Amino acid sequence: MPTPPKTGLQPHPPTVRPDSDGATGPLAVHPKVFRDELTAAAEWVADYLGRIAGRPVARPVPAAHRQALAAGDLPQEGQDLGTLLEFVDRAIAPYPTGNGHPAFFAWINSPPSPAGVIAELLATAVNATCGMGEHALMDLERGVVRDLASLAGMAPGTGGVLTSGGSMANLLCLGAARTWFLRGRGATDGAAYDRAHTRLTAYHSDQAHMSVAKAASVIGLPPWRLRAVPTTSQRHMDVEALRAMVDADRASGLLPFCVVSNLGSTASGAVDPIEAITAVCRDQGMWHHADGAWGGLGALVPELAPLYRGVADLDSLTVDPHKTLSVPVGCGAALVTDPARLRDAFSFRASYLDGDQDWPWLSDYTIELTRPGTRALTLWATLRQLGRSGATALLQQYQDLAHYLRRRIQGHPGLELCAGGPLPVVCFRLTADPDASRPNPQADLHAAVAARVQARGHAYLATVSHDGETVLRACVCNYLTTTDDVDTLVQEVLAAADHLRAR
Ligand SMILES: *Cc1c(COP(=O)(O)O)cnc(C)c1O
Repeated sequence: MPTPPKTGLQPHPPTVRPDSDGATGPLAVHPKVFRDELTAAAEWVADYLGRIAGRPVARPVPAAHRQALAAGDLPQEGQDLGTLLEFVDRAIAPYPTGNGHPAFFAWINSPPSPAGVIAELLATAVNATCGMGEHALMDLERGVVRDLASLAGMAPGTGGVLTSGGSMANLLCLGAARTWFLRGRGATDGAAYDRAHTRLTAYHSDQAHMSVAKAASVIGLPPWRLRAVPTTSQRHMDVEALRAMVDADRASGLLPFCVVSNLGSTASGAVDPIEAITAVCRDQGMWHHADGAWGGLGALVPELAPLYRGVADLDSLTVDPHKTLSVPVGCGAALVTDPARLRDAFSFRASYLDGDQDWPWLSDYTIELTRPGTRALTLWATLRQLGRSGATALLQQYQDLAHYLRRRIQGHPGLELCAGGPLPVVCFRLTADPDASRPNPQADLHAAVAARVQARGHAYLATVSHDGETVLRACVCNYLTTTDDVDTLVQEVLAAADHLRAR
């Protein structure tokens, strides 16, 4: 027999004892029961996801059911494992947000990728914490962070961490920017820190996601020192206005330290001019963070790529794989061109956590310590399922469907396009009622139309404020969506409008 190659991986005898119930105690389960319940759960998952398109997109949770769920009623005695699946099937699964359904167009929430669903279960079994210790999932996280940075078009050497989502990634990047700026001034403690900190000022556009304001508030910036820069008619940051605001603030003694740009605004999918904003940042000694929670990978799409020139010169970028890549919820990423800056902000020593200084634990790069390894594996599995070309094709598919929806709107006399794009968000309104003698509360009509479409359950869209008017908003972020679903959406909107106007 040939000698097996020395891989360091040696076969192990099985350690499960299938014929014994071994451990005792309140959490122990007989191996056979565990196996049967896992199998039943796997079959339920395949069935649930397989039939999702045939069910209502969403269903409101009945008031009594909401109260019962929210009441908290832990019984004295524990229950069989079998009650879990029954509970999910009866009490949870019938009332989803709707994002699993192909006709869900409301928010930037995708269905879970098949690879991600399986990986979530597998990673949970390993149950590694991607904060401390040495284990394979932490190395895998380092690898997928590189993959993401490379897909985004960031500079080689970019690092970072996976986060619970875009909000947390924005917070980490603002925290890193603050530490970097104060260090640069030699103001890391004492009176110098206090003097500088009370003057720190950051900028974002008036289209920024509210998580930027939250992050600023958490790092101690009062609202008046987070400036909303006006946007152009295309909804992207007016860079001349930014420059003027920074100059004026500096003249009045403030310390501009960071600009947050949008790579895909939530309301309308606008992309800020990256290179021009970086130029202001370089002139002024500021950090350029881009919030690409849902548009951060746009450079992959040929029609969008020109707008993403300059990504490699960003200081940091937020990307949410749980949005456009359909990684199951709970996977964002903070990507930082010079990862040492993230470490400068978040590395704190403790005698009971003694990591390897040459190969630092990921807890040195984030606020969290014990963190799910599911993030790394679900992202890895989804990226492996896609490959580079699959990731590109997926984003292109969203673009194509949004273009199709825009054409449908433009081709219908009852509908009118407002704003939207270049990312796949479509904001639109109903044209004014031709019968002017009828009372036509157009202002409230769009909210009522969206509510009616949602309640009917065939499609789902949301509203957004556009120049002070509430209009309809559809965004495409679902690998299951087809032109048929877009047609259903248009039909549902028109039918709801007819119904409401006829009353
Ligand atoms: C969704 C979103 C966020 C927040 O991300 P979460 O994952 O929901 O925390 C931040 N910025 C933008 C532009 C977003 O679209």
